[in-house]
Formats: sequence, structure tokens, C-alpha cells
Amino acid sequence: AQTLRLILGDQLNSQHSWFQQVQPHVTYVIMEMRQETDYVKHHIQKIIGFFVAMRAFAEQLRNQGHNVIYYELDHEDNNQSLELNLQQLIAKHGIERFEYQLPDEYRLDEQLKNFCEQLSIPSQAYDTEHFLTTRTFLNEFFHGKKTYLMESFYREMRKKYAILMDGKEPLTGKWNYDHDNRNKLKDPLLIQEPKTHTRDVREILSLLEGSRTSWIGTVNPQKFDWPCTREEGLEVLEYFCKQLLPHFGQYQDAMYTGHAFLFHSRLSFAMNSKLISPLEVVSAVEKYWYAHQDKVDIAQVEGFIRQIIGWREYMRGIYWAKMPEYAELNFFGHDRKLPEWFWTGKTSMNCLKHAIGQSLEHAYAHHIQRLMVTGNFMLLAGIDPDDVDAWYLGIYIDAIEWVEITNTRGMSQFADGGIVGTKPYVSSANYIDKMSNYCDSCKYDKKKKTGVNACPFNSLYWDFYHRNEDKLAKNPRIGMMYRTWSKMNNRQEILNQAKTYLENIDKL
Ligand code: FAD
Ligand code: SF4
Repeated sequence: AQTLRLILGDQLNSQHSWFQQVQPHVTYVIMEMRQETDYVKHHIQKIIGFFVAMRAFAEQLRNQGHNVIYYELDHEDNNQSLELNLQQLIAKHGIERFEYQLPDEYRLDEQLKNFCEQLSIPSQAYDTEHFLTTRTFLNEFFHGKKTYLMESFYREMRKKYAILMDGKEPLTGKWNYDHDNRNKLKDPLLIQEPKTHTRDVREILSLLEGSRTSWIGTVNPQKFDWPCTREEGLEVLEYFCKQLLPHFGQYQDAMYTGHAFLFHSRLSFAMNSKLISPLEVVSAVEKYWYAHQDKVDIAQVEGFIRQIIGWREYMRGIYWAKMPEYAELNFFGHDRKLPEWFWTGKTSMNCLKHAIGQSLEHAYAHHIQRLMVTGNFMLLAGIDPDDVDAWYLGIYIDAIEWVEITNTRGMSQFADGGIVGTKPYVSSANYIDKMSNYCDSCKYDKKKKTGVNACPFNSLYWDFYHRNEDKLAKNPRIGMMYRTWSKMNNRQEILNQAKTYLENIDKL
């Protein structure tokens, strides 16, 4: 039967069993569509990154002899909608069977399910063959449990895939080296340049300009530097092992002015678009470590592997266990609008200026910048989680809802009331100063809670706890904070300071 197989923009997995043999009756379709460029306002590098990767993937399939239909954004038959395009293709090419890979996003999953129900020809959904677990594994694993502890899930993954294991025991006797990690970076000479690729994307940029698509952030169109093919993803992985892994865990939480990437891998886009698989990333890192134990210690390696087979896989499981309700959760009932400067970086708070500024410049910030600078501020200030989601989903090159929303609403905003995290990730200036050099050149005084130029994080921190006492005081991990707060003698002054800052949030 003449078969049409849909490949979504984040399903660029050339190792998939679909492509193992060339079948003349099968036609693949890949489409650039306004439906996808417009469902949220994306960073320009994110749109370009996906289009470049999709085009290269189509080219690769064609070179292997597969039949491929590719719709560029301005293709004359492009209706800009998934259903309309598919209906048209099915009619035009006498298609008798429709197949697709399970989308990772709830929105597209529903769209395709509904589409198939209305089709008069048979259809079939396939696994993407990318993740280490099925959509439902995590939910089954935690069946009947109240909390979904990441650490237990992670250990299960280690065992299941025999990663860093010695039989049933963790290699070297310890599961988790988190405590050995998280240092401040004191010696900037250690910092390595990121492994970048240089690509001219002027043609795609002018296509987008002509289409009146709107976006955020900037791009250097003659030097687009994200990996957009499988080979490039593998080069970034190799570079990571050799140059960055030796310090990865140690400086995983460190932030340093002017250096966006530090020892982070920059692999999230290549993985999330499925150019490379999480298992091959983890295997390469593990293999590198076995061969170079004199140069790389286990704490670096375990820390990295946990992010991928632990956090990444765990977030996906939470997403499928909790959607669509998850997207509506707002535990604290926050409703403040996101200040305008999140879209420009124009704030005097140095940590935020840098974290937002580099996000606009590179479509990237590392985990601690997302969690403890931007996310921390948004939570303390009580920003509406819908605004928070829209910002994170748009701005990062790796932002796809399954991994964005669980990190944002869950880990960062605690809007899920504690499904992902056991307590909110909030801090005063103290933590930011401990992990970065931002406070050294800030207009605000990291030590002051009140008065002229007191760091906003300090009063907002206590204000957050104070206003949410009914929701948080019973949490055994937080009770201590309330005892400290109750003993502080300038409570009203602190609350007044926070109030003034929140009333003037656009001018901070
Ligand atoms: P590295 O630091 O080198 O880590 C290696 C890999 O581990 C990453 O590529 C990623 O695949 C995985 N990883 C690490 N932490 C997490 C995590 N918490 N959840 C899932 N995977 C993780 N990651 C995304 O891929 N897309 C997002 O939209 C996204 N949004 C986030 C929003 C917030 C508020 C926070 C706190 C985190 C978010 N993350 C997201 C997780 C993490 O920040 C990014 O995966 C990471 O910064 C990507 O850069 P890297 O590849 O250099 O990562
Ligand atoms: Fe950020 Fe406060 Fe430090 Fe300034 S003083 S960089 S606002 S934490």
C-alpha cells in the first residue's frame, strides 16, 4: 500500500528502524509550518535550528534513496497546518496508509490522534526509538506512591541499562556524587571555548523575515553555531568528553560573567531533536571515563549521566503521567505579569541581566541560571506560571514542552505543589553570590535586605515564605525557615521593602 510517513521536526532520528531499508511504496514527509513557528513566540535561533536540522535530515534521507516530500515554509502547497497538509498529500498522492511516530508533545499527540480517527485509510503510530523508557513506565514504576522520587527512578535506570554498575551494586559503591559537585569557579583560566559549528543561515533568516513570523532574541546569520546534523552532534559529544567532562560536575552549578556555556555539553538541542540518542551520549561518556580514569573522576561522570538517564527521562515520565492537567497547575495562585525586561535583559540586577542577556544572544542558559536566577526571581515575585512557561518555552533552543513545562512549572516554580520537587527552589543573594561572580559588579548590595540598593532577592525571599506560610510551613524540609523568620526583628521592614520592589518591578 502507498504509505505516507510523517516526520516531525523533533523526530530526526536517522537510526530509527523506519530508515533501515529503502521502500519504494513509502514516502516521508517533513514540513516547516506556521502552526509550529507560532504556537509560542520562539527564539530566532530555535526556529532556524529546527529548520536547518530538518532540511539536512531530508537531504540525508533522499541521498539514501528514500522518497521525501519537504515543505519549506513558503512552499506553494503549504497550508501551514498539519491536518490540512496531510489531507492534501493523501489525496494528491493516492495514499492508502498513514504512519507517524508518537509525538513527545501532548498538543501534537492529540492533534494526530484526532486526525487519524477521521481518516478513511488505516493509520499506525510507532515508537520514536529514542528514549530509555516508554511514555508510561514512570507512572507504572511509582504506582501507588505519593511522591515520585527522582533518585529511585534514576537507580532503576542505572540497573536496567547497567550503566556505571558492578552487578547489582553501583560501581565504586556510591550511587550519587552530588555532594562532591557544585563549586564556585574561581579560576577563569580553566574555562574552555565551546565546540561550535559555523553555518550560513541567511537564506532561512530572510525566508522568516518575509513570512512576518515574530520571534525573540538575535542570531548571527553568517555564523549559526548549534549542531544541526547527527555528525555535528557527535562532534560536540566527543569534544565534551575530552575537554569539558573533567570539570563538568565540579562546576555544574557555577556561573561566570561573559561565559554562557562553561563546562556544559550543549547537547540538549541535538538530543531533543533526536539527532543523537540519550543512550549513545551516556555510553560514550561512560566509555571515555573507563579509558581515562586518570584524568576524569567518577563524580564528574556520574553527575552528567544522572542528568540524562535520571532527570531527562524522569521529566518525560512525569509529563505523560500528568498531562494535560499539569499545564494548568498553579499551587501558589500566582498571577503577576512577567516584567518587560525579561524580553530585553534591561535590568540593573546583574545576575538577571546576564542570564537573560545570554539567553537572548545564544538561546541558551545552563541549568542553574534557569533555576536559581530567572526561575528563582519569577517564583519569589509571584509571576503567573503561564507567563513563566511561555518565556521558557520560547527562549531556549532546547525547549520542547515535555521537558520545558516539567522543569518550569514543576522543578522551578513548584506550581505542581511538589510532584517534581520536595520543596521550592528559592534563594536569597547568598546562593547566587556563592555560585557566581555576578554580585561583584551589581548595583545592588548582596548583603542588604532593606534600605537603598538592597538586593531585591533578599526581601523577596522572606516575603515569599511569609505570604505562603499556610502552604509551606507544614513541609518538614521548610519548617526551619519559619522558625528563623519568626525570630527576625525587622520583619515589617523587610516586607515593606519587598512590597516596594514588587510595585516597581518594571524598574528593577
Ligand atoms: P548539560 O548541563 O550539559 O546537561 C546534559 C544534559 O542533561 C542536557 O543536555 C539535558 O538533556 C539533560 N538535563 C540536565 N538537566 C535536566 C533537567 N532538569 N531536565 C531534563 N534534562 C536535563 N532542558 C531542556 O532540554 N529543554 C527545556 O526546555 C528545559 N527547560 C528548563 C527550564 C527550567 C526552568 C530549568 C530549571 C531547566 C530546564 N531544562 C530544560 C533543563 C536544563 O537546564 C537543560 O537541559 C540544560 O541546561 C541544557 O544544556 P546542556 O545540554 O549544555 O546541559
Ligand atoms: Fe543578583 Fe542581588 Fe547579586 Fe545583584 S546583588 S547580582 S541582584 S543576587
